[in-house]
Amino acid sequence: MKEFISLVVPPKEKVDPAWWFAIQDDNVLVRQESSGATIPRSVEFVQSGLRVSRQHYLGQLDGCHCYAVEVPEGAPPQGMAFEGLRKIYGRINEDLFALAGRALQIIDWDRTHRFCGRCGSETRTHTTERAKECPKCGLLHFPRLAPAIIVLVRRNQEILLARARRFTTAMYSTLAGFVEPGETLEEAVIREVKEESGVTVKDIRYFGSQPWPFPHSLMIGFTANYASGQIMLNDTENVDLGWFTVQNLPPQLPSEMSIARKLIDSFLNSSPK
Ligand SMILES: [Zn+2]
Repeated sequence: MKEFISLVVPPKEKVDPAWWFAIQDDNVLVRQESSGATIPRSVEFVQSGLRVSRQHYLGQLDGCHCYAVEVPEGAPPQGMAFEGLRKIYGRINEDLFALAGRALQIIDWDRTHRFCGRCGSETRTHTTERAKECPKCGLLHFPRLAPAIIVLVRRNQEILLARARRFTTAMYSTLAGFVEPGETLEEAVIREVKEESGVTVKDIRYFGSQPWPFPHSLMIGFTANYASGQIMLNDTENVDLGWFTVQNLPPQLPSEMSIARKLIDSFLNSSPK
């Protein structure tokens, strides 16, 4: 991974070559290459003639400036396309993918926080912080981030996986849910597993985290051991759930890009084949 330094105040002079993360609706402008896709540089973006309606400085990737801009309309230039994040994953460098997710969330926050939620006045962008400020009542609006726990529950050589109602395919995944106000992450793990499966868990251990820009989550991953209870299907959330072994996995697992898959793979790698 390259070094990224998050910054808010842009450099006084435009320094090339900078990366331009241009957002149109929920899509990012990418240049198609034979080996995949990449993000356009400043020169290419300026030559495209696309009009910019919002602009945020993101910081530096290995010393190279990065900007997020909103392009409200217009066709992509020759050899480029506006594509969704899911579509570019795996075809684009991991650092650029992470920044594309960041750019999309910052532009989306900017366009959905134009007015103060308390007094209704028009907000303005804070000059030194990543915040929108209300000039009338002073309320600060920060980019929205929704923490969600995701947990791999293990019972000896079995793991608990569910096919969520929201999945459009026959995929099975680990249990996950948003953290409620006033709740610790561990409490969220216990509540979510109980609600979704009827099972009580113990030995909750932090596994890792992943920004999940669909649309603005932070997935916080845990492993846990089964403590007690019989599994029960909560059919408002899932269409199926069950215990699976290495020899008996569901036909479809989450994409390799996801922390869900990394949790499942950690179990597979630690199990006797
Ligand atoms: Zn206000």
